[in-house]
Amino acid sequence: MLNDLKQQPADALLALIKLHNNDPRADKIDLGVGVYKTAEGDTPVFAAIKAAEKKLVEEQDSKAYLGPEGDMGFVEKLMPYVFGKANPTMDGRIEGMQTPGGTGSLRLALAMVKRAGYKRVIVGKPSWPNHNQICADLGLEVVEFNHATAAGADMDAVRGAIASAQEGDAILLHGCCHNPTGIDYTNAEWDEIAGLLAASTILPVLDLAYQGLGQGMEEDAYGLRRVLAAVPEALICYSCDKNFGLYRDRVGALYAMVADPADLAKVMSNGHSLARANWSQPPDHGGAAVRVILEDEALTAQWLAELDEMRERMRGVRARLQAAGKTGGVDLTPVGSQNGLFSIIPFTPEQVQAMRSEHGIYFAASGRINVAGLTTGNIDQFIAAVAAVTA
Ligand code: PMP
Repeated sequence: MLNDLKQQPADALLALIKLHNNDPRADKIDLGVGVYKTAEGDTPVFAAIKAAEKKLVEEQDSKAYLGPEGDMGFVEKLMPYVFGKANPTMDGRIEGMQTPGGTGSLRLALAMVKRAGYKRVIVGKPSWPNHNQICADLGLEVVEFNHATAAGADMDAVRGAIASAQEGDAILLHGCCHNPTGIDYTNAEWDEIAGLLAASTILPVLDLAYQGLGQGMEEDAYGLRRVLAAVPEALICYSCDKNFGLYRDRVGALYAMVADPADLAKVMSNGHSLARANWSQPPDHGGAAVRVILEDEALTAQWLAELDEMRERMRGVRARLQAAGKTGGVDLTPVGSQNGLFSIIPFTPEQVQAMRSEHGIYFAASGRINVAGLTTGNIDQFIAAVAAVTA
């Protein structure tokens, strides 16, 4: 029986890490996996997290089970950052639970979507591959629309997708720092999308995995808050793995917004029962460290300063690529106005290969680069390689 299972394709990005590791060249560059890196190429633990972890080690007096909802102090402390300080529960319409990373949150959100009777999920293309993979695993049909054109977000495609939606459709939108394109909706585009969704029966599922890495904590929440102000119900999938640098500790949250606060406990009980069936309870440590930071003014200020530094470094890399402008046969200008860790450079498959074999520069076959992999030490080398392979 088990031997009847079919071989599954290896994760392309993990395979890329191996290729990079095996490359003996000293000046090789890794622009593959999506983690932030400093100008020295490191992915350090935030100092605010280190301090919170020390405090946890000293003060934590039990590791007994918390329940499927995890650390509700963490979940609640995060809400003003996500939903705004003025009314973080939207008058008692929003509640959340802790999940193993943003992936766990998406898994629960989409399982709730399925359980609630939705049949299809509208997703921009390209998207983070796991969006489609989770939908497929849950038996949800994915309806794709084109995410972006050379000029920016493809608003005609969004309008078309929303106009042709059916009863029983959900839509999955990236709140900010679109993965893989870096192309986000402008505020005016979010305003329009919020209006279109309000006039539809579509359930929004908002994925916010990079808050603070684009334009700022408040700025990056604009679209999400705009949509939530317009629609009756939504699910929000949040990850702290990038903006607190906690990747392997798996820190995320799922929030549900309902029309009538009286329905909130019922809706969340579905999240809890699905968590029980999947992982029982989320891992505690990373979420607890985030809570310790958010409970402490000085640690919060330190975390926000570290996040500012990350964002500014990435904006600096983007500005440098923008200034390079037309480079060989590609234009790097748009990278400057894109957001987050990723951008797609329109390389042909042969050019991607040439970047690897001739220049030791590794990134996904789609042309997606992790801009945080570029540093003052290697960015000129990258630009020269782009010029050479696309000339
Ligand atoms: N959503 C998007 C768009 C992502 O790119 C990622 C991670 N790369 C996630 C969700 C999930 O992140 P994690 O599970 O690591 O918290």
